[in-house]
Amino acid sequence: MESTPATDPNLLDKVTNLAKRRGFIFPSAEIYGGFRSTYDYGPLGVNMLRNVKQAWWRTMVQMRSDIVGLDAAILGPPAVWAASGHLETFTDPLVDCRKCKERWREDKINGVCPNCGSTEFTEPRAFNLMFKTQAGPVEGEGATAYLRPETAQGMFTNFANVLATVRKKPPFGIAQIGKSFRNEITPQNFVFRTREFEQMEMEFFVPPAEADEWYQYWVQARYDWYLDFGISRELLRLHEHAKEDLSHYSRGTTDVEFAYPWGWDELEGIANRGDYDLTQHSNASGVKLEYFDQATSERYTPYVIEPAAGATRAMMAFLLAAYHEDEVDGEVRTVLRLDWRLAPYQIAVLPLSKKPELEGVSKEVLAKLQANFMCDYDVTQSIGRRYRRQDEVGTPFCITVDFDTLEDHSVTVRDRDTTEQTRVKIDDLLRELHSRTGQI
Ligand code: ATP
Repeated sequence: MESTPATDPNLLDKVTNLAKRRGFIFPSAEIYGGFRSTYDYGPLGVNMLRNVKQAWWRTMVQMRSDIVGLDAAILGPPAVWAASGHLETFTDPLVDCRKCKERWREDKINGVCPNCGSTEFTEPRAFNLMFKTQAGPVEGEGATAYLRPETAQGMFTNFANVLATVRKKPPFGIAQIGKSFRNEITPQNFVFRTREFEQMEMEFFVPPAEADEWYQYWVQARYDWYLDFGISRELLRLHEHAKEDLSHYSRGTTDVEFAYPWGWDELEGIANRGDYDLTQHSNASGVKLEYFDQATSERYTPYVIEPAAGATRAMMAFLLAAYHEDEVDGEVRTVLRLDWRLAPYQIAVLPLSKKPELEGVSKEVLAKLQANFMCDYDVTQSIGRRYRRQDEVGTPFCITVDFDTLEDHSVTVRDRDTTEQTRVKIDDLLRELHSRTGQI
């Protein structure tokens, strides 16, 4: 009865429905009929998306002394995007089906219209993916601004600022999480490809001679990160781009790919960008973006290794990988086997009955746990139904408070994956949960 991307043809529908029904992801502006593949993250989704970003930040910034963070502006002047190459080359080849008039990305359709099957298309035209807008009340070239299509350029334009303020020397990195915008021609597959999305990118600046070694290092490190957060090996693979498929800035790119319901596709890309970006911005701005090594009296432009991931896309992969249907007590249950660090709630406190005697002690237990974990509190319906509801959203532990609790000062801890129940003293609860989650 296992339901995985490889075995369940309806997995995408099931996860999309669950996401809507349980408050992970809603279609945006739904009361007005929705808005073109944009999505809002609901009460559970916002918890999970934050957890994904926090997991990345912890690994990439908190646990390392060679990477620092940044939060750069989303609006930028044309000069940045001219230097980065986005104004000129950030384009997709666009074709229109001559029969049904649908518009497609030429590189994604294998010559056949996915809508009507026609093979007659207009000549491809280049379509720039950046959202253009205007800063201030007066229109004109000087007022043109772009929404960033990637977070990376903020790290390059701040390279000298960061170097001057944090005393790092290559190899060192700058990490950023934030929204990016691309006017995608064919947004599709739920939140896999949307026009507004969130990225988690890190630019790692290295001496050119060390670039290959660090490139290999980051490919492996990023692959391992997804394993560590619970995606199984069968659902992940590395795909190295052929030389002729590389982007204009890249000397080598490897994608971490995930087995989505429609097949292998990108989850994250790791690229060796060489000295392309710093050189471009040095030339265009007139500000030297180099590193002077005092030990060797050498001045050089560092190479950049970039692991670039999507936070929203990663959340989707984690949901797909976690979705399972199994059997408990002869009944099918839906369970999200999310790593506890990613689950929207780590704990649900469930008083066995609504009777007022249980409320005081239940709220006490809740307050104690809330300081350490994201908790849900639910008193409605039978306890069995409540366990199922928590399984379905991936809550690793349910804490049940019953009438014995008033006598023995203990509660029942139920494990999502094994459904095993253990009696634990309230005084020992935090220690027990910390040890189960490997926090001590
Ligand atoms: P694609 O070829 O799929 O358009 P890309 O190779 O241009 O993507 P990058 O520029 O390398 O993507 O972006 C880095 C990461 O940002 C991607 O691996 C993906 O996780 C995420 N990402 C990029 N575009 C989108 C989008 N439109 N919606 C959601 N996530 C995205």
